[in-house]
Amino acid sequence: MAIQKWPDGLPRSGNQIFDTLKSEDNWFEIFQINESTFAFLEPHHDEEVFSYLLLGGNRAALIDTGMGVSNIRIEVENITHLPVIVLNTHTHFDHTGGNFRFNNIACFDDNFEIKNLNKGHSKQFCRAFMQPGSYQNLPSDFKPDEYNIQPSKITRKLKHLDKIDIGDRVLIVHHTPGHSPGSVCIEDKKHGLLFTGDTYYRGTLFLHLPGSNYGKFVESCDYLLSILDNIEALCPGHNECYAPKDDIVLLHKTINDITHDQIEFEIDSGSKFFQCDHFNLRLPVT
Ligand SMILES: [Zn+2]
Repeated sequence: MAIQKWPDGLPRSGNQIFDTLKSEDNWFEIFQINESTFAFLEPHHDEEVFSYLLLGGNRAALIDTGMGVSNIRIEVENITHLPVIVLNTHTHFDHTGGNFRFNNIACFDDNFEIKNLNKGHSKQFCRAFMQPGSYQNLPSDFKPDEYNIQPSKITRKLKHLDKIDIGDRVLIVHHTPGHSPGSVCIEDKKHGLLFTGDTYYRGTLFLHLPGSNYGKFVESCDYLLSILDNIEALCPGHNECYAPKDDIVLLHKTINDITHDQIEFEIDSGSKFFQCDHFNLRLPVT
């Protein structure tokens, strides 16, 4: 089944199983995944990006901060007054836009990711993602022409298998390069959730971007398969906030088929485009 594009594919079935919470200005749609886990969708932009708030006993973790179009901190503070640590799954603009509103920011210890956070993303760079037709219902005080991502101050550099204890809830960092060099998946041991960022979501996976590395992505898929016994379900970075863990098995098989030339592709917009069941892949033309 082909994936329906934004906005025709809305609302997406993977989100409809959850209760929603009221959002401050309707830019966000907030889903409650369990008693202490919340997903913030930005449904009015074609990125359909997700950020996740995880409440612990003495701290909260915010996995990514979205596009920065609206104030995600207000939404977080409507749910909790615990101190917040931001954990970036990687540092593309659509996952780091709200970073500047927080004081504690962690990303993987990789030069590509560190540079992105130190510099932010310029107006010139961000212009391509704020074209008419890529959004609707912007907040009234938001100016698309001025859109940029502010720099953020890194307070912790993460390593593979680092543990972050937010109080009776331990999060484990899994380095899964491929989409970007310092991409991570974050495991919530208590609930068996794996927050996959842009390493996996139901949609088109981008492995052709500056900083992407398909060889590393193949290794990361092997690695994810090896830890899958510990996981109950996936919470991806775009489109739908919940996916069965078997999607990783399917992804692994697809990658294997691509390696053995078993799947046809087309060249589209300068990349190899593979269409699969729950996801598509864009690889560089080599
Ligand atoms: Zn990304």
